[in-house]
Amino acid sequence: MRNLKIKYKIAYSLILILICFSIASSTINYLREYRNSVEDYKITGTSLIKNIEPYIAHHLYVSDIVGVQRTLDDILKNNPDILYAFILNPENKVIAHTFDQNFPSDLLKVNNEPLQNTELLDFGDKTAYDFSQPIVDGKLGIIRIGISRERMIQSLRSNLFNILTLILAFIGIGILMSFYISKLITNPLNDLVHSIKKISKGNYKQTLQIKSHDEIGLLSASFNKMCYNLQHLTKRLEDKIEALRNKNEEYEKLNKEYKSQNEELYKAKEKAEESDKLKTAFLANLSHEIRTPMNGILGFAELLKSKDLSASSQEKYISMIEESGQRMLGLINDLVHISKIEAKQVEIKNEKTNLNELLDRIYYFFKTITEAKGLTLEYKNSTCDDEPLILVDSDKLEGILTNLINNALKYTEKGKISFGYGKVENKLQFWVKDTGIGIPSEMKELVFERFRQVKNTHLDGDEGSGLGLAISKAHVELMGGEIWLESELSKGSTFYFSIPFINAKQEEESSNQEDKHLKDFKDTTIIIAEDDEINFLYLNEILKDYHLNILHAYNGQEVLSLLDKEKNIKLILMDLKMPVLNGLETTSEIRKMNKTIPIIAQTAYSSNADRQSAFSAGCNDYIAKPINKNDLLIKIDDFLV
Ligand code: ADP
Repeated sequence: MRNLKIKYKIAYSLILILICFSIASSTINYLREYRNSVEDYKITGTSLIKNIEPYIAHHLYVSDIVGVQRTLDDILKNNPDILYAFILNPENKVIAHTFDQNFPSDLLKVNNEPLQNTELLDFGDKTAYDFSQPIVDGKLGIIRIGISRERMIQSLRSNLFNILTLILAFIGIGILMSFYISKLITNPLNDLVHSIKKISKGNYKQTLQIKSHDEIGLLSASFNKMCYNLQHLTKRLEDKIEALRNKNEEYEKLNKEYKSQNEELYKAKEKAEESDKLKTAFLANLSHEIRTPMNGILGFAELLKSKDLSASSQEKYISMIEESGQRMLGLINDLVHISKIEAKQVEIKNEKTNLNELLDRIYYFFKTITEAKGLTLEYKNSTCDDEPLILVDSDKLEGILTNLINNALKYTEKGKISFGYGKVENKLQFWVKDTGIGIPSEMKELVFERFRQVKNTHLDGDEGSGLGLAISKAHVELMGGEIWLESELSKGSTFYFSIPFINAKQEEESSNQEDKHLKDFKDTTIIIAEDDEINFLYLNEILKDYHLNILHAYNGQEVLSLLDKEKNIKLILMDLKMPVLNGLETTSEIRKMNKTIPIIAQTAYSSNADRQSAFSAGCNDYIAKPINKNDLLIKIDDFLV
């Protein structure tokens, strides 16, 4: 029952009530009918027996038994309901009766006393109410009649049938009514349930039709209001969710940005820590690198002071000093280079260069050193012999190759070192190969960074600054090329770099150039303005073979006086840092009177600003210290031709 729908619960309850009510009312009705019928019978029987008593008494007074019998027969004939009638004399003997055959003795057993009250007697298939009436107070006997109940039963039955039919009709109508009523109640409820189900699935746009103003109508109205509120709330909620989603997206975006910033910061921190470590290592290295040649220079200089030195020892000590000086100069050069690169002051100066000659020079320079170490040195010139003259910054190219071969020498104990170049597409590709210790793969990119060195690769006395490859890489890139390496641990390394190939038309001048210089420089007077005696001696030394007439000025003032005295001066090599009158001031003074005389500035400071101020003062060119012999000759040649 619990699981039944409300519709059926209401219908079944109504039907049950209806059935109970019908059964109760029809039972009451039936019982009342039965009692009335019994009462009717009793009245009829009593009045009948009382009515016939005088007639019977009359016949008995005259002992007319036949008359008695006739009266009984008449009664039986006129009343179809009378089942029997008989008379008992005072001795209780039947003197007349209405039975066809013998009088049934059982009737006497049942009622052998004169009866006062009505009794129901059973006659097999029939039942009858038995009435008795004493005749003249019993002096003449007793009259007894039996009235059949058949008619009463018949009428009760038909009555019962009518009642049952009515009940059934009533129940039928009741069932229909119950269903109708339950439908009337449950239909709006069903609508409500249906809508609630839709709401539970998230569809809040529900409106119920209000068909009545009873509780269900009220419920529907409240439901509609609730739906409206829900829609409103949902809308606000959706708006809020949308706003939250947007905020979330913003936060996610910000989060991503913070994350990447964080990563960058972390990387920067790592890099800073790393570079801090590298700088500390570099400083330690640097200190060692400076101390070693300094020890050599100071030590051998001290030894040179002793007077009784043989010529060969002197020569040996001087060459040791030279070697240490070279090493120191190399380190200082590296440092200057790297700072120039950092300050973006390095420029590329392309000039006609015979590549094969350059490689020859390098080969012969390294040959002896390599062989001294027990290694073989090989080189391979390009096959494109018809195009060995190219436009390139030859100093830088030579510097890169020298650095790579130096490294190969440093990190190779046995085997061979080879180098060369070839034309690959529109580029010149150079290579330096060794059979040395090799470089671990994780360091292949890193060795090109400043101060980077592979741990444990340094052999005794061969420590470096970790700047060589960084300088080489910067120079290659400035020349528009790239540098990389291939290496296998314990087998060796090959460094490659490529630069653009720019062909230069071969001119018939290069081989005779030095002779021409020699010829043309004869009787040519130049001034070297230099306050440092050693620097002057060096310049004098490298120019002495060219038969120039060199005048030495120790300061600017002396330059001006020399110019005054000597009218045939063709060029001035001007040191910028001099006492009394410095190089810039002197140049400005000269330009006031002489606009044409070539002045080449020479200084150890080679920043862009220095160069700019030299040109502004009136210098025609600029050469950095330490002065490269070739560079100087080319420049002098340019101005003296
Ligand atoms: P360094 O002055 O230390 O030689 P470089 O910049 O020239 O500085 O080289 C960086 C590092 O790369 C070296 O310290 C060395 O560990 C490694 N390296 C360079 N060239 C070679 C090579 N040919 N074979 C093995 N290791 C090399």
